[in-house]
Amino acid sequence: MDAAKVQAALSALGQPKFRWDQVRQAVFERAVSSYDEIAVLPAQTRRALSEKLPLMSARERRVDASGDGRARKALLDLADGRVVETVLLRPSETRWTACISSQVGCAVACTFCATGLMGLARSLTPEEITDQVLFWRQYMAKKALPGRLDNVVYMGMGEPFACYEQVSASLKMLLDQKQFGIGARHISVSTSGVAPKIAQFGRDFPQVNLAISLHAATDELRSRLVPMNKAYNLAALARSLKEYIGSTKRKIFFEYVLLKGENDRPQDADALARWLDGVGPKELLHVNLIVFNQTDTPHKPTDERDARAFQQRVLAGGYKSTVRQNLGRDIDGACGQLVVLEKAQ
Ligand code: SAH
Ligand code: SF4
Repeated sequence: MDAAKVQAALSALGQPKFRWDQVRQAVFERAVSSYDEIAVLPAQTRRALSEKLPLMSARERRVDASGDGRARKALLDLADGRVVETVLLRPSETRWTACISSQVGCAVACTFCATGLMGLARSLTPEEITDQVLFWRQYMAKKALPGRLDNVVYMGMGEPFACYEQVSASLKMLLDQKQFGIGARHISVSTSGVAPKIAQFGRDFPQVNLAISLHAATDELRSRLVPMNKAYNLAALARSLKEYIGSTKRKIFFEYVLLKGENDRPQDADALARWLDGVGPKELLHVNLIVFNQTDTPHKPTDERDARAFQQRVLAGGYKSTVRQNLGRDIDGACGQLVVLEKAQ
């Protein structure tokens, strides 16, 4: 839902200003799925709005749930026939997180990522980005799922900082107390390293969390795995992160997918710690080691034992480090597995 469009439609219908407040409350607080459910609106207005302006920019095509019930993945049809994926995660009993996409596909083409394999179709509009959160709130309301969805991670399809303007507008909508009202510290944006946008993001959204998809700490290896490194190498990335820390004093999360025999050797862990030494104070830098989710690529996951050894070395270098197994692997809903399997007819 685009607030400005609904407000314009209401005013074109000659409705008083308080009608917007009624729509806003119903959509964001009650998570209604249609104007028909907003009983306080005159029936005529409900009808006129439904005809003029769809409440959502995306429609459910299907939803799959993981066996353990902790992850759901939706395919959403967009108005132009493209399809985008979004994931709802339940990391704990009461907390829900939406993992949202910023683009259909991705141009960065990281070698291990399913989204990267499909190339870029287009960026999403701010409305299409935030409607993924709205979609999951509506889904939870319909299924009467307990708890609240108030965590959002930009870790679905696409490179958020390749469409900074749209992502920035979508963040403002999520943060807006009169719309989603999600706390900045409950939102994380993940990037493969668009250096100039990192510094800008720090100035624009100093309270929103930042995650960097690092995956390698030498230029030779990183340029191969994460081609973004050819545009902004590790030195450029470090400079932008220093600037980010300077303006925000916030913690940065580094994502590092462990790939067997490629970036998981002891010397890779040491290179990682050395590179981090040049980025900022140890207490602000956190390494998330991620177990590789099998994609249609030649990469293989690192064995558990080697992953632990890698983690120990990063810890010995003085950095906090966790090993993360992604939720939703059985529905291809884990990070890096988001790929559109079919196109709209
Ligand atoms: N494009 C952004 C946002 C996507 S976040 C970015 O890359 O940061 C998705 C996260 O999952 C990234 O850290 C990405 O590197 C990681 N990822 C990609 N493919 C993966 C895979 N097959 N297994 C595990 N993680 C993967
Ligand atoms: Fe794009 Fe991120 Fe996948 Fe790389 S990991 S191809 S940047 S979505």
